[in-house]
Amino acid sequence: MPLRNKKPIIAVLGMTCCEGCRVAIVDLGERFLKLAGHIIVGDFPFIQEHAKKKSFDLTFIEGTPILPSQIEEIKEIRRRSKVLVPIGACACLGGIQEIKNYRGDKENCLQYVYKNVDQIANPDIKPISAYVPVDFELTGCPINKDELFEFTKKILAGDVFRVPQRPICYECQRKQNECLLQKGLPCIGPVILGGCGAPCPSVGYPCDGCRGPLQKTGKNFDNLKKILNNHGYNEREIEMITERFGGRDQIENKLKPQNTNENKN
Ligand code: SF4
Ligand code: SF4
Ligand code: SF4
Repeated sequence: MPLRNKKPIIAVLGMTCCEGCRVAIVDLGERFLKLAGHIIVGDFPFIQEHAKKKSFDLTFIEGTPILPSQIEEIKEIRRRSKVLVPIGACACLGGIQEIKNYRGDKENCLQYVYKNVDQIANPDIKPISAYVPVDFELTGCPINKDELFEFTKKILAGDVFRVPQRPICYECQRKQNECLLQKGLPCIGPVILGGCGAPCPSVGYPCDGCRGPLQKTGKNFDNLKKILNNHGYNEREIEMITERFGGRDQIENKLKPQNTNENKN
């Protein structure tokens, strides 16, 4: 998916979410301004009032479609985008919103929150890739802005971008952190895709998987579960950790994350 246009048109759009991933893009600061000089900002409602363009070379999209109208909207955005890249745990995994799927009767959940539910649509929550084909995913909660910047530079140059398939433990151990899992804390870093720099275990908080799984987690996850069971965590407690960012189904290997564009060139 190389973009060799002189000034590619880039959009940054969003669905239901906290908008933190778009904030992370703006938080690139000077680098964002420099990048803006090499592209045409086609639509970025976060910083501009009106959309400038109808079709885009590259669209980043954060958030999750949670309404039937948003499901139609994402299909329309796909039609208008040469390259579509969901960003953040919400868009790539389902996000916190997806916890609803794992709580049994979702109508009950709705009634717990709203008094009158007659007019409220209540579809299952799914990542964007469940509705339309995507070209790449940059996950995390929020995204790693440096990773997005590098991705954008490579794509604009027509190069391949790959997220190395290394677990969080790789970065954690390079920082010489004391291993929280070995101390009996419920860290799922061994099956989670690295690239964030392991900020959570570095401050004593177990990784709970906002970047989603490595491409092959199957047996590793079974082994990790055994370790957690031995530390006294039951199945439900482990599920609740993997559900936190909506990634339980991906971690259990029912869906594959997409973090290389090499097959698209
Ligand atoms: S992934 Fe996290 S930071 Fe990004 S939009 Fe979703 S909740 Fe917000
Ligand atoms: S603390 Fe977690 S991420 Fe770090 S090495 Fe141990 S298991 Fe891996
Ligand atoms: S350490 Fe785990 S939870 Fe923390 S940012 Fe990285 S992937 Fe997300």
